Amino acid sequence: MRNLTKVLGVAYDVLTMDEAVKKAIELMDQEKNNMVCTPNPEIVMAARKDDELMKILNLSDMVIADGIGVVWASKYTKKRLPERVAGYDLTQRLFNELKDTHKTIFFFGGAPGVAKEAAEKMMKKYPGLNIVGTRNGYFSKEEEVKIVSDIKALKPDLLLVGLGAPKQEKWIYKYKDEIGAGLSIGVGGSFDVMADKVKRAPDIFCKLGLEWFYRLIKQPTRIKRMMQLPKFALTVLKNKNRM
Ligand code: UDP
Repeated sequence: MRNLTKVLGVAYDVLTMDEAVKKAIELMDQEKNNMVCTPNPEIVMAARKDDELMKILNLSDMVIADGIGVVWASKYTKKRLPERVAGYDLTQRLFNELKDTHKTIFFFGGAPGVAKEAAEKMMKKYPGLNIVGTRNGYFSKEEEVKIVSDIKALKPDLLLVGLGAPKQEKWIYKYKDEIGAGLSIGVGGSFDVMADKVKRAPDIFCKLGLEWFYRLIKQPTRIKRMMQLPKFALTVLKNKNRM
């Protein structure tokens, strides 16, 4: 039985990072083709206006809080989320667990060359990590058919999809049973970070819950997306008695 708590309609698993890592490995080993989503406040706000996205999030097999805003919001629900479980950190922890096993991994997403570079860097960082294929995230309808059949032929244990939200969530949901990967995770811009194209915020920003601020000063074009943050906070406060 999952221990869930709902934040503005999105059901999150009440898990620490250690528990989320353990659960992801269990999900990978099941017969079923499982999926993990990591919705931040921006995605929660998008899901409130997108029924398909809301449905997919709530049908996912594990939902973790990528964003301190979601952890904050959970204090108004019956069960508080114990900590932030960022998608990027989860993948790093999983690589560490999988590096000396036979488990296979596929990286799908990012600009041309980025997933490949990310894979090379991760295999250096985690010797023994078995990344069996990569594909960039820009494709036509015809190419998409080939991408699905290529990943299906490899049947990886772990499929990381970095197409940005909500594209990656919809893509995983549509193809997961056809592809048959043990576990698929939507990882947003994580390949850019793994390939060193984008710097993650220094620890101090993360500790203070200010990673969003660091990203904003680094990429001011994100301002429009970030305006969802105060909207999220206001919506939480407005709904705090009925979350
Ligand atoms: N992306 C992609 N295909 C697309 C659109 C986006 O592969 O059609 C990639 C893009 O190159 C980037 C990621 O998706 O690597 C989205 O990154 P962003 O930082 O916006 O995601 P977040 O982590 O904020 O969800």
